[in-house]
Parts: sequence; structure tokens; C-alpha cells
Amino acid sequence: MLIDIHVHTVLGSKCSVIEIDDIIKMAKRVKLDGVCITDHHSRSAVEIAKERAAEHNLLIIGGMEIRCLEGDMLAFGFSEFCREGIPLAELIPWVHSLGGVVIAAHPFRSGAPSIGNKLYEIKGIDAIEVLNGNSSEEMNILSWLASLKLCVPGVGGSDAHTALQIGKYATFFDRKIKDEDDLVSALKGGRFQALKMF
Ligand SMILES: [Zn+2]
Ligand SMILES: [Zn+2]
Repeated sequence: MLIDIHVHTVLGSKCSVIEIDDIIKMAKRVKLDGVCITDHHSRSAVEIAKERAAEHNLLIIGGMEIRCLEGDMLAFGFSEFCREGIPLAELIPWVHSLGGVVIAAHPFRSGAPSIGNKLYEIKGIDAIEVLNGNSSEEMNILSWLASLKLCVPGVGGSDAHTALQIGKYATFFDRKIKDEDDLVSALKGGRFQALKMF
């Protein structure tokens, strides 16, 4: 299944202009099977998007982008509130205790809070966003290298804030995913591959 694991909506992120209908339209156009809504510290768009997308046979998965002390992280598998500025030393064990996963978002992007070379020191990150739609090719290559050197698997996400960015990058999963729990278990143990879609 092809899933864009990093999309922001106008309902949950002040910096995005994407409406739920934009997600459905673009996902169909670029032939995505699913989209993860990862608004900043918010899940307010997730339920409404799920309802609307269901009739279009599009999978919507809820997640969150968390602004940690060390940089932005994507997290899946829990719905509790998470404060801004939380250190990774607290976030990672907490998310793991709830059964979830933590992904380093755009690790080497400049101009946004990103973990950078600290990625090499922090233990317990479950995946690395090696293709991020708001990062340059050079920045994404640094993320690929880190993924290879650390043996931490890579995912792809558009980090879309406008409709036409949706699906630029995605993650291919070798198994059927029908909800957030499935995504979390695939990220923990499945085979997946970051892909450039257009
Ligand atoms: Zn970010
Ligand atoms: Zn983002």
C-alpha cells in the first residue's frame, strides 16, 4: 500500500491551507491508498477526514507532528496530548510505553526545527523520514545516509501544506494497512520503502 505519511490540514495546522476535500482529490489523482494526517500537536482533523474519505475508499490515519526540544518528530499509535518542547529522552520512552512509534521528521532540513546530527546520538527512534517534501535533495540525502548508517528504516512523506504537494513522496508497505494500529506494527516490523511519486 502506498501511504503519504506526513500531511498537514487547515483544521489542525495554522501553517496549512489543505482542506479535507483536497486530500481526497489529490490522493486519488496520484493513486495513494492512504494519507496520514500529522498536524502540529493536534488531531482535530482526523475523525472528520476519516468519515469523508471512507466513501471514497481512501484510508486516513491519524498521527501527530511533535515539536521536541531537539527538533520535529512524527508520532503514531497514541492520542494523548503532548506538550511542545518535550525532550526526546522523555518522548521516546513515553510513546513506546503507549505502544506507539517515533519518526524523525525532516532530520536535516534547515529553516525548521530539525534534529540534525544529534540523530546519531539519540537511541530509540523507530524510523527516519528520508524523503521529506519540504527538504532539498541534499538534505534528504543526508537523511538517507543516516538511515543506512544507523540501520533505522526510512519513510517518505510530502509534509504537504498546500494541496498540490500531497503525495510528492510516499511510503510503500508490503502489507495491507487498515488503521493506525496496522501502520504502527508495520513501522515496527514490516517491510517498507520510501518513494518519490512525482
Ligand atoms: Zn516539521
Ligand atoms: Zn510537517
